[in-house]
Amino acid sequence: MTLSEFFPIRELSTYQTKWTIKGRVTSKAPLRTFKQRNGSGQGKVFHVELLDAEGGEIRASFFNDAADKHFEQMEVGKCFTLSKGQVKLANRQYNACKHRYELVFDRACQVDAVADDAKIDTVKFTVVDLHTVQGKTLPCSVDVCGIITAFDQPFAFKSKDGKDLVKRMLTVADDSGVSMQVTIWGDRAKKEDSEFAGNPAVVMKGVSVKEWQGGLSGSLMEGGSLSFNPDMPEAQKVKEWWTQGGHAQSLKFISQTSGSGGARISGQTLDVLEMKQKSEQIVNEQEMYSAFCRLASVQLRKRDEVQPLYYIACLEPKESNSLPCNRRVDERGFCAVCNKVGKSAPRLNLRCRFEDATGNFWVTTFHQAAEKVLGMTAQEVADIEKNEGREAVEAKLKSCNYAQIMQVQLRAKPDNYNGEQRTNVSCTAAHPVNLREHGRFMLKQIDEMLAKAVC
Ligand SMILES: [Zn+2]
Repeated sequence: MTLSEFFPIRELSTYQTKWTIKGRVTSKAPLRTFKQRNGSGQGKVFHVELLDAEGGEIRASFFNDAADKHFEQMEVGKCFTLSKGQVKLANRQYNACKHRYELVFDRACQVDAVADDAKIDTVKFTVVDLHTVQGKTLPCSVDVCGIITAFDQPFAFKSKDGKDLVKRMLTVADDSGVSMQVTIWGDRAKKEDSEFAGNPAVVMKGVSVKEWQGGLSGSLMEGGSLSFNPDMPEAQKVKEWWTQGGHAQSLKFISQTSGSGGARISGQTLDVLEMKQKSEQIVNEQEMYSAFCRLASVQLRKRDEVQPLYYIACLEPKESNSLPCNRRVDERGFCAVCNKVGKSAPRLNLRCRFEDATGNFWVTTFHQAAEKVLGMTAQEVADIEKNEGREAVEAKLKSCNYAQIMQVQLRAKPDNYNGEQRTNVSCTAAHPVNLREHGRFMLKQIDEMLAKAVC
């Protein structure tokens, strides 16, 4: 067989009706059901992405009978010949593949498994740097290769249609000096924290980039791929950039998170004085506030007693949602909830004093927020304390004081302390402020004040 016997995927269009392509399945989405448009019950569909020997890629969707017939057979990595499908314009909203068209197969399709063709790559990346992503028409789909500079905890929630979802937000940066938030989903999000820690290089195929609250935000679609420390020149390049100064460079963050409409910080934006007054008045319901402030100090001692900065938490997955258990384990690493010695890791639990021009306040600052406030992971804090001693870790923490403007999210809860009603405020999220965004936010506030002053 010669190459020319197959139609190049790249040249598929609505002008061609007779074609047979040969391609490798590079990704495959789960089978899903949907309501048929004509009301005749449930339909089902799955899609794959196909890559051919000439480097052309296209998405192919299989509906109903074709889905039943080929779902098991179309394994990722295997090669097939395909014909008798329909060519349609690609729907950019759902299709991460770069082809202008997509294929639709139904009952009439002809799909045959063939022997592996070494001329066809297993996966093809067209990596675009994040600076270039910024200039693209949105929404778009790109392959990204960068360093994970930050990651959130996995977050489980119910979708509008009642499905259980888990997501995790990553911040990815590359040698163009730009960083962007990328959300990953499902099993990818549930991977252990350690996979994301230590600034690994990643390559992600099929990141859908959209405008989100004034910034750009990426989401790695189900059919996309994610690999850690891949063996490719682009990954080598970003790794070198990161170790040779990139980690100390101030990066341009293109995902909006500051201002009152921020994606991750919710609650009314108040200054410290207002926040203290408001929080003292709450009676029944908890309230969320957001404040722009600086870290003034971390409590290291309480009445001369050295305060622990972290505790060792159980990382065994909970049965209910397979998220980490997070309960404190004892000295032997035993978790009373899971009733065993399992995986564990340090989690920060700090008392932080934050300050702005109107005042300051002490709050318990939880793990995730504390890592952002310090710009260090709990593991790093624990390692410094263990290897270099308490004095070294205290010096390191002191160097974070007043270092940068943070936006913090505060949760105020009514609490009962020895029969006395009081408010318990804790810091549940934090991130360094993007100065440019923050500047715009303050200008808007001034405009609003001026508008009120005129009336
Ligand atoms: Zn546990």
